[in-house]
Amino acid sequence: MPAEFVLRGAHVVEAGCTPRLLDLLIRDGKIAGRLAPGMPVDASIPILQADGLHAFPGLIDAHVHFGFGEKITEYSTETVYAAQGGFTSILGYFLNNESYADVYEREQEYARARCHVDYGFHFSVANEEHVRDMPDYVGRYGVTSFKYFMNFKGEEGRYLGLDGTDDGYFHDLMKTAGALPGVQIVCHTENIEIVNRLRRRAQAIEQPTLKDWANAKPPFTEAESCVRAMYFAQQLGAHLYIPHLSTRLALDEVRRWRSRYPQVRVETCPHYLTHDEDSDLGSMGKANPPFRSKDDVEAMWEGLRDGSIDVVASDHVPRKRATKERPFWLASQGFPGTATILPVLLSEGYHKGRLTLPRIAELLTEAPARIFGMLPRKGTLRVGADADITLVDLQRSRTVRAEELGSYSDYSLYDGWTLKGWPVRTIVRGVTVMQDGRIVGRPGHGQYLARPLDR
Ligand SMILES: [Zn+2]
Repeated sequence: MPAEFVLRGAHVVEAGCTPRLLDLLIRDGKIAGRLAPGMPVDASIPILQADGLHAFPGLIDAHVHFGFGEKITEYSTETVYAAQGGFTSILGYFLNNESYADVYEREQEYARARCHVDYGFHFSVANEEHVRDMPDYVGRYGVTSFKYFMNFKGEEGRYLGLDGTDDGYFHDLMKTAGALPGVQIVCHTENIEIVNRLRRRAQAIEQPTLKDWANAKPPFTEAESCVRAMYFAQQLGAHLYIPHLSTRLALDEVRRWRSRYPQVRVETCPHYLTHDEDSDLGSMGKANPPFRSKDDVEAMWEGLRDGSIDVVASDHVPRKRATKERPFWLASQGFPGTATILPVLLSEGYHKGRLTLPRIAELLTEAPARIFGMLPRKGTLRVGADADITLVDLQRSRTVRAEELGSYSDYSLYDGWTLKGWPVRTIVRGVTVMQDGRIVGRPGHGQYLARPLDR
């Protein structure tokens, strides 16, 4: 693709406005102009004709995990997978007990040469050193979001090789974050003390189902933790982001709390929109949080529609199918998910009249860009933004086959599902990296997303 071209004939989809025909002038990887449809341009400028397609700002998956695929090559496989799904940026979590100064250098070494799309990092804070070094991580590495696992308290954390934290630690963390305006604290909200008891009892069940798994982690354990996290955030001035929200009970608490303290953002994941606890997938359907009731699924759609859920992200975990096909309590949790987010939202949301295209654009582009400090460079097609563009064929039906999507993982929760509405071209900073299901970009094109606070 040349350094300068015009994207012509597509309907541009942006948060808050009706999709409309608009030509985009791309120059040196940036959006250089927004032109009236068909407006004549200098004959030397090539035209990329996109009639009948919809142009979204490049999609952002704000929740993927690094370190669960094949270490090192995952930066290649999982960014290929992202590009296949129309994603131009991903933000990945690390969970380490060592200093993130070391983690950062090492992972950058691997990532720089391999990524096909732009990538950024979230660090999970698990010990005193991490909290102490937060300002440093922000300043030196442009990492402005930190995850805290409320479920890895005490013994549970020590079991995982972490120091094992408590509410005093959480208090310090939120206080430190409160002094760093713009930093997001991502809280995994789960009352593990209750879950531990319920899970012990559930483990006596001989043939456990996904419903037994859900019963071991009832909505109360998510909602109560959300309330505590919101209280900590409000009292200490931290910005809170609740990932993978799954229950109506918790969402209703968030709605109530926001009138008291607005700095609370909520994410849900595609599987909480398509699967419930009555699913017969057995250990293949094991996730944390678990699949919930049909009413909870409905509540997630309502939350997307009314704006009380801000972001949809995958919680992408690229493990092999074999790690799921084990005795229930030993099976791994989570799924690969980035590449199927958009087809799920288009097929189950847009085509079923539950979500509009601008709302989908907001959930997958502008909102994560704003929350995680990437606007105005990402998440928008305004002049000056990076020319990250996802071209979508809304009418295209395709049956999901994991092996066509490029992840290290060898299955999809949606294998065999025919979904309507697929990305057909992924453009990262003016360069096409995926076209019609073929990867045409090169490894190393993806750039690191430093997210400065001064904006
Ligand atoms: Zn996750």
